[in-house]
Amino acid sequence: MRPEPLFPLFAPVTSLPGVGPRLAALVERVAGPRVVDLLWHLPVGIIDRRYAPRLAEVEIGRIATLTLRIDAHQPAEGRRPYRILCSDGSGSIALVFFHARRDQMERAYPTGSTRIVSGRVESFGDALQMPHPDRVAPPEDAASVQTVEPVHAMTAGLPPAVLRRAIAAAVERAPALPEWLDPAWKARQGWPDWRAALAAAHAPGGEADLLPTLPARARLAFDELLASQLALNLLRRRQRRVSGRPRVGDGSLQRLVLDALPFTLTRSQQRCLAEILADMATPTRMLRLLQGDVGSGKTIVALLAMLAVVESGGQAALMAPTDLLARQHLARLAPLARSAGLEVGFLSGRDKGKAREATLARLADGRLRLVVGTHALFQEDVQFQALGLAVIDEQHRFGVHQRLLLARKGDAVDVLVTTATPIPRTLLLTAYGDIDVSRIDEKPPGRRPVTTVVVPAERLDEVAGGVARALAAGAKVYWVCPLIEESEQLDLAAATERAAQLEKAFPGRVALIHGRMKGPERDAAMAGFAHGDIGVLVATTVIEVGVDVPEATVMVIEHAERFGLAQLHQLRGRIGRGERPSTCILLHTPPLGETARARLRIMRETEDGFRIAEEDLRLRGGGEVLGTRQSGLPDFRLADPAAHADLMEAARDDARLIVDRDPELRTERGQALRTLLYLFERDAAIRYVRSG
Ligand code: ADP
Ligand code: MG
Repeated sequence: MRPEPLFPLFAPVTSLPGVGPRLAALVERVAGPRVVDLLWHLPVGIIDRRYAPRLAEVEIGRIATLTLRIDAHQPAEGRRPYRILCSDGSGSIALVFFHARRDQMERAYPTGSTRIVSGRVESFGDALQMPHPDRVAPPEDAASVQTVEPVHAMTAGLPPAVLRRAIAAAVERAPALPEWLDPAWKARQGWPDWRAALAAAHAPGGEADLLPTLPARARLAFDELLASQLALNLLRRRQRRVSGRPRVGDGSLQRLVLDALPFTLTRSQQRCLAEILADMATPTRMLRLLQGDVGSGKTIVALLAMLAVVESGGQAALMAPTDLLARQHLARLAPLARSAGLEVGFLSGRDKGKAREATLARLADGRLRLVVGTHALFQEDVQFQALGLAVIDEQHRFGVHQRLLLARKGDAVDVLVTTATPIPRTLLLTAYGDIDVSRIDEKPPGRRPVTTVVVPAERLDEVAGGVARALAAGAKVYWVCPLIEESEQLDLAAATERAAQLEKAFPGRVALIHGRMKGPERDAAMAGFAHGDIGVLVATTVIEVGVDVPEATVMVIEHAERFGLAQLHQLRGRIGRGERPSTCILLHTPPLGETARARLRIMRETEDGFRIAEEDLRLRGGGEVLGTRQSGLPDFRLADPAAHADLMEAARDDARLIVDRDPELRTERGQALRTLLYLFERDAAIRYVRSG
């Protein structure tokens, strides 16, 4: 149960004065639906309204708070805006409004009165003007205008002042909470109490107060990191206590598959496999990340680990984030497993009825040793006879929670997570706590480099000509169109139209594939591309991961400027897998922003996934890399794992110590830490404290 002092923070924002349902919808869009979400919505900037010169001295271009006498109104005329002429004895200025209503203006700025007006001062010819002042108040309220105003991330339709008031009310409501920080550490850092930190972080007095190193901000960030690390450590402790089982295979099944492969493993693959097998052979539970660039050959390593588990008498499951990917894994693993005399089962949300029942029965009684699937593998009714290894083809789409669900399906299940994104150490910590890493840092031999060109969209005709030549030479072509949630309908329409155009040019040879299509339709399109007459596969980003068609040697990416660097790299990894040289064409629509330009340049310069990941981090900043939903890493509201890397390490050490000394969070500090876990909604971990 959530501690009672936190109740008001988890109430909806409509419980705040002045926030009705209409505003709540807007507040929810920028911050979230609950009061606590407003607490975490820290200012991203300030407006300093303390500058209050006389008109004779005012600096053009600066935000100023002026004391003005309202001399006259000049209503709009033709294209001339509404103007209010003002003066202060040292000079004069016009307040300028577009689309103003006279009655409203006269009420806000009565002629002959004095008003405090704050906004940006501009020059218009020789005269001064202030378009649309931000604030206007009677002289007695000067002190409330002449302040440093926090600026927040906003959404259209939500007046900044309304959001500021709601946040202030939320901060006001924050209760004093028992201290969860180690007193010595807190004193050494010079950090304030939680409530004071919150108030200070929301009331910056200048630019410097926005720095992540500000004591108040650092403390809040540490709180968040500590909650996350503590939760991870509690989970890990429980996993370890349900300690692992040594799993040692005799190599017999692995041998059969290795003999059937048309290639030998690279040294890197061999090393990673050895690391995984050694880890599984120990009695502690494995939690290991297998990292390797797109196409580096993670799948075969994972399969061999799965076979080792089968040799040792267990079962193994591989889980992919989408149905499409799960099916591709199945298509590739099934023939290999068959050479070891094993069948691979399949479970996805799409399968119902008899076939599913049969698979479930065979997993439960152990006739089926290997299974591939989606989230469906987690479901209650899925029982294993002896699940020993869960391989999670992560691609950053699963949360920690889901990983644990699968790991609970068996007795001390070892977990191997595969990912193509090299995640820096600090970011790894935030996502997994303690995890071991095996890295494939070498590509299979014979990979052809991909030539990447950046072409403006207006040269589409030339590109189509190139596609025609490639098709004539027997190549297959991926044609990627962007699709993002915010503009899904439009994007889908654009992709559909592109497919229709290409179909006109290449009749019978074009297929369209996107996430909204029914499974069987998608499978048919994929199969046509992999083995049939389809030469051009127009796709939204569903092919981003996992597809393997060696004849595909051309990839056209439309609106390449709309993709992130990591995504472009993933996409491009789909080509360059065959005998023939490959080309990736990045179409873009000018004008390009600076970041987009940098991304495309890096893509042209390198195919090195590690370098690309580094550049990506640099261009986006660690916080954003973590913040994107796509990353699947925890979404921090206060901490920026790049800026707070040292705090991350400290939080990890602290969390370890806590779990060692007070694993059930029984001490006074332990009790306070429970509140912390609830505050940051990591309370799932508290269940493990109890049941553990
Ligand atoms: P990843 O999952 O890391 O992106 P895959 O496992 O899909 O990479 O492997 C990509 C392709 O490379 C597959 O066609 C696979 O059969 C092939 N492959 C894997 N290992 C080797 C190797 N050592 N030598 C040659 N080809 C390999
Ligand atoms: Mg793979």
